[in-house]
Amino acid sequence: MDIIITILASIIVFALGASVGSFINVVVYRLPAGLSILWPPSRCPHCLNQLKAYDNVPLFGWLWLKGRCRFCKSPISPRYPLVEAIAGLIFLLLFFTFQISLLTFGYWAFCSWLLALSIIDWDTMTLPNPLTISGLVLGIIFQVLWGYVFIGTWQGAINQGIMAISAAVLGIWLFDAIAILGEIVFGKATMGAGDAKVGAMMGAWLGWQYLLLASFIACAVGAIFGILFRRKWGQKMPFGPFLAIGSAITIFTGETVLSTYLRLFFANV
Ligand SMILES: [Zn+2]
Repeated sequence: MDIIITILASIIVFALGASVGSFINVVVYRLPAGLSILWPPSRCPHCLNQLKAYDNVPLFGWLWLKGRCRFCKSPISPRYPLVEAIAGLIFLLLFFTFQISLLTFGYWAFCSWLLALSIIDWDTMTLPNPLTISGLVLGIIFQVLWGYVFIGTWQGAINQGIMAISAAVLGIWLFDAIAILGEIVFGKATMGAGDAKVGAMMGAWLGWQYLLLASFIACAVGAIFGILFRRKWGQKMPFGPFLAIGSAITIFTGETVLSTYLRLFFANV
């Protein structure tokens, strides 16, 4: 019986994530283009015919259309089902890691924001304010809620909110410092103002310890990619995807990493 419930829950969570991924596909296409996110309904970018409701089903829509528009047969990018699958898997992983908890719901939102920001940064080398600022505000609200639920008092909630805002400010400082350092080392601007705003958002959601860990991982992975794919990106490289990777790795491994680190350095104190 338990196994049936687990399978059913997994399917529901994956479907939810894939649906959010489907919406992320809309956001990353329309937001940078300055189009409305809610209107008009999904259309083929080539023939502008409105998609049938059943073609809009995440993953399966693309599969049974065999990656082509129902009307004009022009190819639909495999990126659509890919983003849906990634979102579904992230939702599932978070669900298995944190079970049914406030943390799961919060991280679902945080990771959805990060995924959307990563794709937009990858496509356009920008991190739009409507996304970074809403992500930051949502992170602060989440921390206040978390404080209220787990500490159980309004004082706890307010403290948690202040912690979130402080970590957000730290995030901006940290990324400004990295940007200045990058300019000294590489002689040009390596990071945009958008990266610092994502840093603020990460601070609010993750707290200062996880923020530092996530930023370190992001810089390390980004540096490796920068060396490997320098020719493709030239001097400019989107940093948003690496911030997302750093945050995701931290969410799943942060506790282990930080406790190991503390044990290594403070075991003999
Ligand atoms: Zn079409």
